[in-house]
Amino acid sequence: MSLARHPATRDDWQALAASLQFEQGFETRAFIDDAFVDAEGGATLTTTNPATGEVLAEVVSCDAADAEAAVSAARRAFDGGAWSRLAPAGRKAVLLRLAELMEAHRHELALLDTLDMGKPVSSSLGDMAGAIGCLRHHAESIDKLYGEVAPTGDDALGLVLREPLGVVASIVPWNFPLMMTAWKIAPALAAGNSVILKPSEKSPLSALRLASLAREAGLPRGVFQVLPGFGHSVGKALALSMGVDCLAFTGSTAVGKQLMQYAGQSNLKKVFLECGGKSPNLVFADCRDLERVAEHAAAAIFHNQGEVCIAGSRLLVENAIREAFVEKVLAAAERMQPGDPLDPDSFMGAIVDETQHARILDYIRRGVEEGATLRTGGRALDGPGLFIPPTVFDGVTDAMAIGREEIFGPVLSVFGFDSEEEAVRLANDSDYGLAAGLWSQDIDRIMRVTRRLRSGQVFVNNWADMDQTVPFGGVKQSGNGRDKSHHSLEEYSDLKSVWMTLAP
Ligand code: NAD
Repeated sequence: MSLARHPATRDDWQALAASLQFEQGFETRAFIDDAFVDAEGGATLTTTNPATGEVLAEVVSCDAADAEAAVSAARRAFDGGAWSRLAPAGRKAVLLRLAELMEAHRHELALLDTLDMGKPVSSSLGDMAGAIGCLRHHAESIDKLYGEVAPTGDDALGLVLREPLGVVASIVPWNFPLMMTAWKIAPALAAGNSVILKPSEKSPLSALRLASLAREAGLPRGVFQVLPGFGHSVGKALALSMGVDCLAFTGSTAVGKQLMQYAGQSNLKKVFLECGGKSPNLVFADCRDLERVAEHAAAAIFHNQGEVCIAGSRLLVENAIREAFVEKVLAAAERMQPGDPLDPDSFMGAIVDETQHARILDYIRRGVEEGATLRTGGRALDGPGLFIPPTVFDGVTDAMAIGREEIFGPVLSVFGFDSEEEAVRLANDSDYGLAAGLWSQDIDRIMRVTRRLRSGQVFVNNWADMDQTVPFGGVKQSGNGRDKSHHSLEEYSDLKSVWMTLAP
């Protein structure tokens, strides 16, 4: 795949897309034990471009036999120690090389995610920067972490050592294919584990390209493997495997619950979950710049077609400014219409597949039936391609499905409130607790409300401004554990206590 200059226009990206040849040279097979191989059962799955309906590739679809082959290879690699016992500075060097390769191939990787799941290419490029930054962050930090010496008396030496877990299976979703992958594999590999990645069946292409780059970067045999396939077959097999020590999952709450059961039915493997959300965005009447806040509130739900775990899908607005504010949100939504994902100016792209498209439209129908006021959107665009414009419901209550359930699409539910107390009650009245936004100029209120919000992260006067230095994760049914920052290393390592009795 080549282009004389970096792609900048829609024509450039279209030329790049046309130059991708999935039949020749691009690996669509599983990456197991340092080789690209067909599934033992010979199955494949079809991946299509949701913006056009065109078939992109037939990709290998793994099942239980492939999972066990990968688990054996991962265990051999771990026990062999070429990676698990390599000095952290050695692991750092390889991971930084992988980051370099990803940087060099970022346009191709971004394009693969865009073609596979429909997001705008400018957004995919942002994901690549996030993925590469995450890899660099963990590579750079791993040789700067120390163990502990316990405060013992002179007759003993107590050490607290941090050790890798062994074989980690990372099961990831399709909405940020490579970035979610990086959040999982970067700390897991940095900590010294062998990692088996199962990308979503809806977006396997960038993960397979990553496998080639990982091999080129010098990750030893069996340390990183990629098993494309369906959740109910290869995903379940990994989750039930007696040879997997940790399941690191990002995806829906329903599947997260199943994974905990699989762990209980097998070897009590550690289960680290990043699940769904229905995140509240609280706007108080004392906001300084309502225009700007409305722009952010719209982007909080319409970015990535609303297919975002932390989408600000519940907008809670103080009734004193509600009507004027909603007008501004509608104006902002008007500027965020979906377009060709290969056009760098498109804010929204296509919905990932027909199932998700139908699910979103069904929620919209229920919203109307349940009595919410549809202010804009509400209908799919004519094909080809799966596009749904920004949709805003006002007058939503917490009894309505669109007010409680994760839609995972460009549908905003607006609630009104009259007091801080009511705002906090509405915000916390959810099974989820992933993110919350809070817009106000009153520092006392900001601190009061922030402390009371049951949420893994609170964005104050922004939505989703984050970098690698802060952990990311949820409470309640949004999951457990944390991605990103040095805290994520805790998910992929165990403490070993060593007590040495010293002779007098
Ligand atoms: P999903 O739960 O359907 O699938 C996620 C992954 O799990 C896929 O790879 C899938 O193949 C696999 N899977 C499905 N069933 C399985 C099973 N029985 N055993 C093992 N693996 C199985 O989710 P999705 O539709 O891919 O992604 C959307 C969901 O992900 C949303 O709920 C969203 O909120 C969530 N998400 C959360 C975060 C976060 O950080 N909290 C980030 C992104 C997405």
